[in-house]
Parts: sequence; structure tokens; C-alpha cells
Amino acid sequence: MNPLELRKQFPILDQEVNGHPLVYLDNAASSQKPRRVIDAIVRYYEHDHANVHRGVHTLASRATDAYEGAREKVARFLNAASEREIVFTRGTTSALNIVARSYARAVLREGDEIVLTPMEHHANLIPWQQAAKATGAVLRYIPMQPDGRILLEDVEATLTDRTKIVSVTHVSNVLGVVNPVKEIAALAHRRGAVMVVDGAQSAPHMKVDVRDIDCDFYAFSGHKMCGPTGIGVLYGKLDLLDRMEPVEYGGEMIEHVDYYDATWKESPWRFEGGTPIIAGAVGLAAAIDFLTEVGMDEIDRHSAALARYAYDRLSAIEGVTLYGPRERTGLVTFNLDGIHPHDVATVLDTEGIAIRAGHHCCQPLMRKLGVTATARASFYLYNTEEDVERLAAALIKAKEFFGHAIG
Ligand code: PMP
Repeated sequence: MNPLELRKQFPILDQEVNGHPLVYLDNAASSQKPRRVIDAIVRYYEHDHANVHRGVHTLASRATDAYEGAREKVARFLNAASEREIVFTRGTTSALNIVARSYARAVLREGDEIVLTPMEHHANLIPWQQAAKATGAVLRYIPMQPDGRILLEDVEATLTDRTKIVSVTHVSNVLGVVNPVKEIAALAHRRGAVMVVDGAQSAPHMKVDVRDIDCDFYAFSGHKMCGPTGIGVLYGKLDLLDRMEPVEYGGEMIEHVDYYDATWKESPWRFEGGTPIIAGAVGLAAAIDFLTEVGMDEIDRHSAALARYAYDRLSAIEGVTLYGPRERTGLVTFNLDGIHPHDVATVLDTEGIAIRAGHHCCQPLMRKLGVTATARASFYLYNTEEDVERLAAALIKAKEFFGHAIG
């Protein structure tokens, strides 16, 4: 895998920002798109677009084939047992909301437990808070080590016979830590609970095998893995999906309707009310082809190596505090002593370097880390050690700039 060659396939990266070649290090928020993904969406709109499923004309059947073909591609990408286990959603957020609204509210009783970690993104936290409020269930948190790791003995100690749902992020969007979701799933199942995995930060970077993990639900977003915005996936085991109520009612998702009642299609179509995200699915399929050709194992090695390289490089800069363990993937989160992360990000932007600053949709975790915000640099397959060097040099410059300003 050659990141510099890959970079050439991303038109947006070939530009200067504030007089410097762009270094894009905000991939955990959203990745950029290769030419072939952009082309696939344009080609679809120029040649094949119509509404899916109901039409008998040629364009309708081409659009349907493209949409359902994308579903088969996602099923293979995740090693799902069937394409009927793949629900297209707007992204990770809406996928997790489907589970929390439909599955959780049907099974949870007062006093039942939903188990999370302290590092969950708001998307894997607030839906559960709301489900708990609606049902009388309670939230419990697996303790986290000071460096952000989750120990299996702590998982075991947190789960009880009242635990009905365990929902954990596969990779933390703040700490970069990879959680042992397969082992956690086994412990959850031993208690009769279902295992939900937030895969927003893992699907872009590593081979995900939902049958090997043996999770019951897995959610991810297309836009973080070279696909377009507005498309994501909820994987669910078929026997669970088929027992779940839809969350949106209307066209496309029904089997039979009369004036007073209606019945639903089988999964996944019962969860896709209305005209679905057809062009988004086409773009996601093209992104999966691209990533598969590069090789998910290669991407995994690259993302982990670059994150550790950045961790070591930034650790060597006086005044930098890093969050999370060295063993990580995809990103580094840090602060510069005495300088607000927004100011750090602003100075870096003047150097053409795009990073993110804020709470990263993890306000409770920020409080646990004792900060209100952090800076975050996140990598993808087109980033290099050279990009990390530019980041390090710009941070030293920021330190000097603010040092003088403060001094
Ligand atoms: N979970 C994690 C771990 C994330 O990093 C994100 C995106 N920042 C989400 C969930 C939500 O993804 P989306 O905004 O695409 O729905």
C-alpha cells in the first residue's frame, strides 16, 4: 500500500490551504472521497436513476439492481450471513437509534440494565438514556482504566442477570483504543444480553467480521470510509431484525395495507420506509470496492502504525498531553499546555493542516479526562509520516506563537 499513490486518487487533497499544501487530519469526523466514488455517483445519476422496487421500467430495475447489489456488497464486507441482515440507514446515529427505539423498548422492563463504557460517543449514549427513561431500565458503566483501556474482568463484574443490552464502541473516536468487542460479546451472551457494536471508527480501518465478533448489531457510517454522507448501515442478526417493529411507517416498507391496519415487509425492507438512499448506497458500494482493493488488513496496519508514530512524535514535544494508551489506531487526541484546543486548530489551519478541536461528541468522557475540549488529529490511508512531521512542526510553532503572546 502506497499512501502517496492513493492520495492522487482524492481530488480534494490536491490543493493548497492558506498557502500550504493541504494536510487533512480530520478523518475521524469524515474522510475524503476517491475519484471512483465520486464517478460512481455521477454515473448513477447520469444513466441509471429512478425510484427503486416498485417500477417495471428499465431504469427502475437498474436502480433497484444497484441498490440491492450494494446491500449484497455490504453483507460480504461484514461477512454477514445474509444480505437481509443489512439495513441501510442515514449513518451510525440513525442505526443505533433504530436498535434503541425498536429492539430496546420492546424487551426492556423496569430494573433491566443497559451496559455501556464511559467512552461512548453521544450517538451510542443518548439513545440508551432515552430508552432507559421510557422503560425504567438503568444504565450501568464498565469501569475504564486511567489510560482508557477496558479490562474483561471489569466487564464481567459489571454484567448481571438483569443486563439485557451491552453497547460498546469498537474503536474510541477520542482515545483511539480498540475495545475487545468479541470477548465482550461472549460475556454478554453468557448473561443472555445482546451485544451492540458502534463501528463508526472501526469499519473504515479494519476487517470487520460480524460473525466472528458474534455481535447482534453493528452500526457504521459510509462517510468515514470514503463513501458519501447520508448513508450508513445497521447490521442485525436476522432473527432479531425480523422480530423488531419498524421505526418509520409509510411507503416501501409495507406488505398489505387497508384503511385501519397494515402489515410489514420482512427485514431489512421494513426498516427502510419511503424512498431509500439509493445514490448513497451506490457510492458506499464503490467505496467498499476501493477499500477492498487496497486491502483492509493493509489499511489496519497503516492506521495503527501511523497513530503510534504520531503518539511517539507528539509525546516528545514538551507541553503536549496525550489521551489514551499508546496501543491504538487511527488518531491522536491531545492538548498543548495553556493553549485552548480551538486556538491550536486555528493556528494549524493557517499552516494548511486540518484537525478538529472540541468535545468530539463525548462530553462525559471529557469530564472524566478532566478537560472541556481536546485537539484531535485523525489519519487515513492517504496520510503519511510526513504529515505527522508537519503536524509536529506546526504544534511547535503554535507553542512559540502563544508562548510569546502569553509571555
Ligand atoms: N460513533 C462514533 C464512535 C463516532 O466517531 C461517530 C462520528 N463522529 C458516530 C458514532 C456518529 O456517526 P454519524 O455522525 O456518521 O452518525
